[in-house]
Amino acid sequence: MNDSIILHDKVFKPYLSYDKIISAIDGVAAKINADYEGCTDIPVLLCVLNGSIVFTGELMKRLKFNVELVSMKLTSYDGVRSTGKVRQVMGLSGSVKGKRVIVVEDIVDTGNTIVDLMDIVLGEGASDVRICTMLLKPEVYKKDVKLDYVGMEIPNAFIVGFGLDYNEIGRNYKDIYVLDPVATEQLNEKMKYYILFGPPGAGKGTQAAAMVEKYNLCHISTGELLRKEIAAGSELGLKAKALIDAGALVPDEVVEGMIENQFKTVKGVKGFLLDGFPRTIAQAEALDAMLAKNSQEVTSVVSIMIPDKMITERIKHRATIEGRADDANDATIANRIKTYHDKTEPLIGYYRKAGKYAEIDGTGSIEDVRSKIFATMDKF
Ligand code: 5GP
Repeated sequence: MNDSIILHDKVFKPYLSYDKIISAIDGVAAKINADYEGCTDIPVLLCVLNGSIVFTGELMKRLKFNVELVSMKLTSYDGVRSTGKVRQVMGLSGSVKGKRVIVVEDIVDTGNTIVDLMDIVLGEGASDVRICTMLLKPEVYKKDVKLDYVGMEIPNAFIVGFGLDYNEIGRNYKDIYVLDPVATEQLNEKMKYYILFGPPGAGKGTQAAAMVEKYNLCHISTGELLRKEIAAGSELGLKAKALIDAGALVPDEVVEGMIENQFKTVKGVKGFLLDGFPRTIAQAEALDAMLAKNSQEVTSVVSIMIPDKMITERIKHRATIEGRADDANDATIANRIKTYHDKTEPLIGYYRKAGKYAEIDGTGSIEDVRSKIFATMDKF
C-alpha cells in the first residue's frame, strides 16, 4: 500500500495496512469469544450500515458461538465532517426484543451515533447492549457510553477504506487511508497544461525556454523524456528501449504513461509545457482523459507559425551553421514541411473547436514573438 488514492476532490495516503487492521480484529474477536463463551442464547450482531459492513464480515467469521445478524442504516457524516445529527435511513432489519445485542461500528468519532443506537436498541427491548468498534478517535469521543470492544485508537483525522467512505466511495479499499491535506490542496490548485506547436525553424526551443521560466512550467519534450526514461532504466524506459531496439514504434500507451508519470511526480511547478505531444487526435483524446481524471484540462495550445518559405530558409541556414547542409536539400525540407502540416492540421481543428487554440505569428524578432506568446498565455 505505497500509493495515495484520489477520491472525488481529495487525496488520501496510506495509513493502516490490511494486516494491522486484521490483527486488531483478531484481538477484538478473542475478547468477545471469551465473554460469550458457552452462551446458551443467540446474541444479535448489529451491523451499522454501510461503514461497518466489511468489519462485521471479518469479525463474524472469527466468532465461535451462534449469532444472528441484524442490520440498520444510519448516517451522520456529510463529506469529511460530522453533521452532529444522526439520521436513521433504514430501521432494524430484525427483532432485538429480549436479546443480547453487540453493536458493530466501524468507527466512533463524536459518539452521537452510539448514543442514538443505544436508545434505539434499548427502546426495541434488547436485554443487553454492548458496543464493539473497529476504530475510536479518543480525542473527539466525549460521551459516557461504555465502549466494550475497541480494535484500535486513532488520532482525529478523516480516514477511508475497509468499509469507510468519502461521499460514498472508497469503501472497497482493503487498507485504510488518511486524508492528505497538502496533496489535496495541490490537486485542487488548477495546474496549467500548455501544448506547444510549431514547424521546424519556428523558434520553438528558444520560446519554450522563456515560457518555462516565466510561468514556472515543466517542459516535457517526448523525445527527451524517452531518452531520460531509458537512461534511468525505468519500467517504461525498458519497455520503450526493447521496442526501439527491435525497430518498432513506441506505442501511444508507453508515451502516455511517461507523460502521466511526469504529471504525477514533478512537484513545485505551476504547470507543464508539452512539446511533441499530442501528435494525433487519439493522443489528444487520451491527454484529455488523463487530465480529466484529476479534474484538470488542457489550458491552451500555443502554435508558433511561420510561412513555409521561411521554414525552408531557416532550416537551410541552420544546416549551414551546423555543417550538415547536405541534409537540408529542398526535397527533404519540403517533405518535412508537408509532414508537419499533415500531422498538425487535424489537431489544430481539434483544439480550435475546444476554444483552446492560439496562433502566434513567429516571423518577428525573438523578443517580439515572445511578448506575443506571453500576452496569449496571460489570456488563458
Ligand atoms: P460519530 O457519530 O461517532 O461522530 O460518527 C460515527 C460515524 O461517522 C461512523 O460510523 C462513520 O460513518 C462516520 N465517521 C466518523 N469518522 C470517520 C472517518 O474518519 N472517516 C469516515 N469515512 N467516516 C467517519
